[in-house]
Amino acid sequence: MYQYRRRLTREVAFGSIDLGGYQPIRVESMTNTHTMDTAATVEQCRRLYEAGCEIIRLTVPTEKDAENLRNIRDQLRRDGIDVPLVADIHFSARAALKALEFVANIRINPGNYASRQKFSNSDYSEDEYLQELDHVRLEFIPLVEKARQYGVSMRIGTNHGSLSDRIVSRYGNSPEGMVEAALEFARICEDIGYYDILFSMKSSNVRVMIQSYRLLVQKADAELNNIYPLHLGVTEAGDGDEGRVKSAMGIGTLLEDGLGDTIRVSLTEDPVREVPVGFAIVKKYNDFHFVKGDNGHLPLKHVVESRNKQSSRNLSQNDSLPFNPFSYKRRGSLPLSFADLPVGGDNVPKVETEVHAPLSDYESVFEEVVERLAPIKSQDAIRSEFASVRVTNSADLNLLDDLFGKLGAARRFIVASTSDASLAMQLLDKVSKVRLDIVEGEKLEKEFLQNLDNDRVAALELCFIHKHTGSSVPAEILAHLAEKLRKQGVKRLLFSIITDDAVFAYRRLVQEFNRRFLDNPLVVRFKSDSSDRLESLIASSVQTGSLFCDGIGDMLALHTRLSIVDEVNLAFNILQGARIRISKTEFISCPGCGRTYFDLEKATAAVKERTAHLKGLKIGIMGCIVNGPGEMADADFGYVGAGKNRISLYFGRECVEENISEHDAVDRLIVLIKERGKWVEQI
Ligand code: SF4
Repeated sequence: MYQYRRRLTREVAFGSIDLGGYQPIRVESMTNTHTMDTAATVEQCRRLYEAGCEIIRLTVPTEKDAENLRNIRDQLRRDGIDVPLVADIHFSARAALKALEFVANIRINPGNYASRQKFSNSDYSEDEYLQELDHVRLEFIPLVEKARQYGVSMRIGTNHGSLSDRIVSRYGNSPEGMVEAALEFARICEDIGYYDILFSMKSSNVRVMIQSYRLLVQKADAELNNIYPLHLGVTEAGDGDEGRVKSAMGIGTLLEDGLGDTIRVSLTEDPVREVPVGFAIVKKYNDFHFVKGDNGHLPLKHVVESRNKQSSRNLSQNDSLPFNPFSYKRRGSLPLSFADLPVGGDNVPKVETEVHAPLSDYESVFEEVVERLAPIKSQDAIRSEFASVRVTNSADLNLLDDLFGKLGAARRFIVASTSDASLAMQLLDKVSKVRLDIVEGEKLEKEFLQNLDNDRVAALELCFIHKHTGSSVPAEILAHLAEKLRKQGVKRLLFSIITDDAVFAYRRLVQEFNRRFLDNPLVVRFKSDSSDRLESLIASSVQTGSLFCDGIGDMLALHTRLSIVDEVNLAFNILQGARIRISKTEFISCPGCGRTYFDLEKATAAVKERTAHLKGLKIGIMGCIVNGPGEMADADFGYVGAGKNRISLYFGRECVEENISEHDAVDRLIVLIKERGKWVEQI
């Protein structure tokens, strides 16, 4: 909860490599070619391999596809490519039994493997439930036996939205259901002495995904004979920055928790583009544990055995935790208002960005402020609500007055930051919010605190600048100040920390505030000095998105070297990914695989172009009807592949137009959205 420790798992063989245990966290991907097309699949595997992909999964819809894995594998080996292959199985036990002759690992979906769907809403009686479970057992055991015989490992990969009718009847479409579905299969494996398994718990909803993995770890580690590895991924994450942000948030939150042994970033793009994103996400954690030896091998520096120290403790029963790891509840905070905008309480988190130019460069500051502020651009523009300018000396105070004169009414959305307490005191009468930086090792003047009251114009944010990671100092100092000022009756206060390890620092802060019953709003801040766009995007998403997914945070402020537009978009993508502030259409699109028979990337772009302004609407764009309708789970509308260049359209879970031409499908989708009263014209 408060410092990084990797959960030590059983090492599982994956052909030429191992996974879990002391191995680095692996990065994998999946082909989107037809598995019967040997040349195209081999070519895509080669490109993935050259990009560094460590494990490649291929879809296996039929026995014929399974048989063709032999040709693909043999050609790759002839080309000197020994990357482990994984067969992805849904439904077909026959395809699974054949496929495992040619691969290192097989992924089965417990939601549809050997499950007979009931196709009715009536609940399962206890007898029916047990009979169905017996049937699963009978069908599954031959696969497990054959996997053992061939030395093939197995991923029990549950997806939110594709659970069996039986599981849904008892647990609903919930993290509990996902976990139980996986555990049923794991129990069968252990009963017959097969232990080469790993798990995944994917969802396109980042919060559900995070909670499901955590719940699985708690239950599986308590019940099963081994600590099994985890494959992490956010499914149907979409494309572009949105897809990268959602993946980084979901996967990164769990990696921060110490969970995860292999990851797949799924993007609706060329799968080769998933690989650098995956490596950018795992880098921090692999760097933490490993140093490169002479032979390029990665010896382990430090892994803590989790079973003895962690998993016997029931996290949900520990009241002092800063949040519930298994279900979402936003941290309660005192609502405040500045510049007439509500912050804290139940209000959506506001976005603040920092003007980079110094006030002495007056023209640049003005231009930046105009570019950053939504109130100046237009009410609906994706821009920040507040722009922060840095005040370093008394001359800056005059320049600030000049700036206000030029900005007119928009001056209210300027906030000021400083590390000088006497400047802060003067700024409290000028702007809507003042951020006073408390630099570690430097004392905050007593006089400043004593002179604070509620008569000032501005709200005050106390921000602890903390260089050393992993300590409880910022939390203790800020909680002490908050308590002192509460006694003094000062109400318009916010708190924040700037540090590399925002996740752990803010968790400690919330824990300390909870302990003292302090409910001041928190500004989640993160500073990235990286000039690499992807690195900055990923670190920001992990370090701040993780907190919002766990209900922590009332404002978001990123300090990056990204362009203004990129930085502001990133902030809104993070809040949307955590589903706490919806500012645009939510697209849930799968990466496509061998089951896709239309140009998914092109279709996604076309749907986005026409519907990106429908704020709050969720649109699923899925490659196939086999898994698409289930896995787009909570989408309002669905555009789903139904066959070669054919599309079916969905309203919620109901298929309303079947098998229409791909050529007309986007137009028909727009008509459908209009018919259901969800369309608004683009301004
Ligand atoms: S929903 Fe997409 S990724 Fe999943 S099986 Fe269908 S085509 Fe493949």
